[in-house]
Amino acid sequence: MRLGNIIVMKFGGSCLKDAVSFHRISQILRDYSKNELVLVSSALYGVTNSLIELSKKAENHSPELENEFKLLSDKHTSLIDNILKGEPRNKASLEVQRELGELKTVLKDIWDFGLKPQKLDLVSSFGEKLSTIILHRYLESEGFRAVYVSSYDLIYTTSEAQNALPILDRTEQKVKEIIPPLLSEGKVPVVTGFFGRDNHGNVTLLGRGGSDFTATILAYSLKNESNDVKVVLWKDVDGLLTANPKLEPSAHIIRDISYAEAKELAFFGAKLLHPLCVFPVEKKGIMVEIRNFDNPNPDRYTRISKGIKTKESVVKAIAEMKNVNMITVEGEAMVSRPGTAAKLFDLMGKNNVNIIMISQSSSENNITFLVSDEDKYKAIKALNWSPFFGKEWVNVEMEDDVSLISVIGAGMKNTYGVAGRICSALGRAKVNIRAIAQGSSELNISLVISRNDLERAVRAIHKEFNLHEDEEK
Ligand code: ASP
Ligand code: MG
Repeated sequence: MRLGNIIVMKFGGSCLKDAVSFHRISQILRDYSKNELVLVSSALYGVTNSLIELSKKAENHSPELENEFKLLSDKHTSLIDNILKGEPRNKASLEVQRELGELKTVLKDIWDFGLKPQKLDLVSSFGEKLSTIILHRYLESEGFRAVYVSSYDLIYTTSEAQNALPILDRTEQKVKEIIPPLLSEGKVPVVTGFFGRDNHGNVTLLGRGGSDFTATILAYSLKNESNDVKVVLWKDVDGLLTANPKLEPSAHIIRDISYAEAKELAFFGAKLLHPLCVFPVEKKGIMVEIRNFDNPNPDRYTRISKGIKTKESVVKAIAEMKNVNMITVEGEAMVSRPGTAAKLFDLMGKNNVNIIMISQSSSENNITFLVSDEDKYKAIKALNWSPFFGKEWVNVEMEDDVSLISVIGAGMKNTYGVAGRICSALGRAKVNIRAIAQGSSELNISLVISRNDLERAVRAIHKEFNLHEDEEK
């Protein structure tokens, strides 16, 4: 068989629920049977969160640990009972029990010796191990020549806890060694999403929602000059939307989006797409489709690719972060004094504070930056402890009632007046802009506004740029 047309498909937790959803997976595989398929599986819905809870319960010697463990175990065994019979069922049960036994050992270890970040990563990886066993045995029972492949053997990463980065060349080499031979034998590899390993052999994680990333890393690794590789991410939504439908009911699906725009959107709407998953596919020009598993419709999906369509609207989407906090550092002592910004961000970096946006006025007497709820106390504490900030010459202020809106679109580049239109639209809607920033890539304009104004602001911009009009409807 020629390795010419590979599709890497990721099935999210919401695709792995019950007999109906598993049946749908095998139907999808039949629909795509002309291609060579590589599957990536997420954990069952909610399982990663449960595993994180279990680790904490073990650390705190919680009396609920045993019961919670049983719930997790029952969730998997009852799914097996629902979808499998006979030999495949026995195999799946045995394999799941083996993993659960290992998980128990790790939890016992945490109980005895405490929870280190590495152990949390290890525990979190069990969700994908368990779901992939079930998917593998199910597909086998449906007549597919499925093979279980652990991402531990494929994906090499750096060692940071929870958010490790793939080491692409090493991974590519491994993937090329293991996957193509399986494909040429007509087999369907079913790969665990979310985790990989570092150089020391520790299990590492690709960040929450990391199975998307697993899929795009595999696609990157499989792509060469003579084959075609595509990624399909099956999710519980039609695709990427022009705005959050909870804020703007007329928001609709974006059918075509460029890598650059998708990256911006993934960063802000982090829930739908892993923030880094676009990077590997962009490097090799691999197309990604986001499709709705609950409502598979051949024509209604989002396509992420290089191409920017001619009928491009200037603004593609509006993304928001509802709960952010704005910290302003201000004082005459900062004017014309090189090194203040460096001092500030060095301090934040050392305290593990992630900065979402920065803006500095040209009078140089203030710097404003945004942090998440999770980081705000760390940031303020670090500033208060510092010998420079928050003292005589430099005042620190935090506003914790703000939201960030990001207006995204590749068409903004070299187009006059976009910022003007945004500001006027917001002015008409009586929304006060508290801070504004534009990246030099001109792909997004970000605005800080009062949290109470969020819905009004999103609607005003959505309307201003006619985003409610779906051109291809
Ligand atoms: N199971 C992991 C998570 O919930 C990875 C994923 O779902 O993609 O974050
Ligand atoms: Mg998930």
